[in-house]
Amino acid sequence: MSTGRFGWLRNAGRLRRDDWVRRHRLLTMLLAGTVVGLTIFGVLSDEGLTRSWLVTVLVVLPCVVAAARLPGRRLPSVAVALGLTAACGGFVAMCHGLTEAHFTFFIAVAALALYRDWAPFGVFLVATTLHHGILGSLLNGSTFDHGHADAGLHPMLWALLHGVAVLFCASFLVVGWYLASAEERRAQDNLDDSQAQLAIAFDETPVPMAMLAVDGRLLRTNSAYRKWLRLPDVLPDGFSVADLPITPIGDVPPLFDELLRHDSVNATRAYRRNDGSTTWVEVHSSAMHDKHGRLKLIVVHLMDVTATHQHNDELRRQVRHDPLTGLLSRQGFEQDLAAMMADTPGPASILYLDVDRFKSVNDGSGHAAGDLVLRSIAARLHGLVPRGALLARFGGDEFVVALPGGLDAGAPLGHAIVKELAEPTPVAGHVLALSASVGLAVATEPGCAEDAVLSADTAMYAAKRGGGNRIQVFSDQMRVAVQDRIVAEKLLREALNGDRRETLPVWFQPIVATETGEILGAETLVRMRTPDGEIHGPNRFVPAAEETGLIVPLGEHVLVEALRHLVEWRDRLRYVTVNVSPRQLAEPDFVPLLAGLLADNPELDPQRLVLEITETALLVASVDVEERLEAIKGLGVRIALDDFGTGYSSLTWLQSVPADVVKLDRSFVAGLSADPRKTSIIQAVLWLARALGMSAVAEGVEDEADVHTLREAGCPLLQGYLFGKPMPPADFAARLQRSRMATTP
Ligand code: C2E
Ligand code: CA
Ligand code: CA
Repeated sequence: MSTGRFGWLRNAGRLRRDDWVRRHRLLTMLLAGTVVGLTIFGVLSDEGLTRSWLVTVLVVLPCVVAAARLPGRRLPSVAVALGLTAACGGFVAMCHGLTEAHFTFFIAVAALALYRDWAPFGVFLVATTLHHGILGSLLNGSTFDHGHADAGLHPMLWALLHGVAVLFCASFLVVGWYLASAEERRAQDNLDDSQAQLAIAFDETPVPMAMLAVDGRLLRTNSAYRKWLRLPDVLPDGFSVADLPITPIGDVPPLFDELLRHDSVNATRAYRRNDGSTTWVEVHSSAMHDKHGRLKLIVVHLMDVTATHQHNDELRRQVRHDPLTGLLSRQGFEQDLAAMMADTPGPASILYLDVDRFKSVNDGSGHAAGDLVLRSIAARLHGLVPRGALLARFGGDEFVVALPGGLDAGAPLGHAIVKELAEPTPVAGHVLALSASVGLAVATEPGCAEDAVLSADTAMYAAKRGGGNRIQVFSDQMRVAVQDRIVAEKLLREALNGDRRETLPVWFQPIVATETGEILGAETLVRMRTPDGEIHGPNRFVPAAEETGLIVPLGEHVLVEALRHLVEWRDRLRYVTVNVSPRQLAEPDFVPLLAGLLADNPELDPQRLVLEITETALLVASVDVEERLEAIKGLGVRIALDDFGTGYSSLTWLQSVPADVVKLDRSFVAGLSADPRKTSIIQAVLWLARALGMSAVAEGVEDEADVHTLREAGCPLLQGYLFGKPMPPADFAARLQRSRMATTP
């Protein structure tokens, strides 16, 4: 019976423990209340406290005690049912069977329905029927008050009639529980479903999640959360946020306080794990409130963004640092310089350093060696700059130092750097002799830090032009020079973009035979015609062209023009010379360009083209430049060593350079006749040139007396204002004509 057909009856209304306890307490109190009620009723009624009152109280009181004391659910509830039957029966008896007194049975059956259990219910029905039947038979008058004998009904039938009425009432109550139970079950099923869905969503998501109580206890965590924090699957009771194995990094208010204060929080925090590692987490929280608006719990979602953070840090670090040397990058330097000037009051010195002839290291020994040199320079600089100074590499071979203090701080460091870098550097088994040009400028206030860097750069160029291996302090004249250079560059760009024959005309200066005065060759010298018709000499724009790289298109233009005129003056002029700047020569495309131009003029003998290379180009001598000269010679083009006698001039150079012609510099030639020392040097150079099979040209010949000395010394060719200044091609062609007529017998 218990589990079979009526199983639902027993189980249907199975109440939760606490609900049952609450209902049972209520019913027990009701039962106890009946004793009080019956006593009051007895006292107030005419009858007084009768025997039936005494019997009732004696039966009900043990039932109250049993209901309060007996273990489990069934026995206490049965005690209540029996007690209520007794109370109702007692009341009926005290009312002498008054029909309305029987209503109490209906009240009792409704009250017992609270148990949702058949046992108290059934016990009550049976007890009621027995009470009606037995007491109705024995004490009919105090059980039923209808003149029963008159009605002719047997008390048992009355009992049955009452029992059926109570049963009906009970049946409807049972149907009521059943329906309520079914509805509850459905609601429970729905709840279970959504709980299951929620559980899956919560537990299975890879996003670490936790529900926190207001006191910080972890009410629920998912496995991603426990895994992320390396927590056991089952957390100890009362485990709270304070027990988490992480500590916040930095001076930040406790996150949990923030979660308590705001309905939703989006924050990124850094924590140190117990193993010392750092973890970055993005926290999203939502607060849940009860219906009174009180905070009930906090749901937190966490995202481990450590990898993103590390990646961003790395990117930031990469942007701020030069990968080759580990020094600051330009960007990092600019940021730190601004910060340094903001932090330290007073001026700051900026040293801009460029390695002299670094390109020759790269070209000559390869990029790997170049990288080693840069690293070694970085390390040496590192050893020199004081604490608190900034050290950066701006790319290429440019290094920049910033240190607090004015010239008195910057200059000694600049000198120390120049001295240190001039020490021979062992790199990859070779010892390289390096040097550096250093520009120094002082930034007086934070606003002019950027300008000071530019000024130091300008001063560095001045140091470089002064021959390198020196420090140059920025001066206001340099600012003018910088402005001039900027103007020159602008004009040059415009000229290159215009009709080049108009804007960049090439002029020619005769080179004559010492013996006959006949014009044998000409030096091509470029000019610039500005928009307002002014003619600028090359000294005003060639340095800017060199610095900006515009020398490459400019040089190509001059070569094209020189060859064009050489072809034009085919029978009248043996050769032209063209100046080639070091930068142009270093250009990897230079030789192919030359070969292409020669191929465009197949009728032209390449021997008729002479390229003038300065000593400075050769000073950066590396295998590469020598190879390049050989390649040029391979095309049949001849090479002249320009400005010989200036700079580092050494006779041994002559031997190592594959030149065909030596051009003695004007400084050597001018006033030659009056200076016996110059004469002996010229004699020695000419002798050596002859011995090496080279020809020689004396430049800057302005004086007849010098011509005489040069002829005596055996210089075969002369060039100078005495024979003609550089002139436009048309004038030169006319000169050529006259010269031929003069020398033709
Ligand atoms: P440079 O190669 O030494 O050219 C000779 C310079 O000396 C020319 O100046 C010429 O006008 C000048 N000169 C010649 N004879 C005398 C003389 O008797 N007395 C004096 N006082 N000067 C004399 P210019 O034309 O102003 O050229 C200056 C420099 O510009 C040249 O020096 C050369 O290095 C450079 N240059 C000229 N044209 C080009 C070019 O097309 N490409 C390159 N890369 N550089 C060029
Ligand atoms: Ca020249
Ligand atoms: Ca020259």
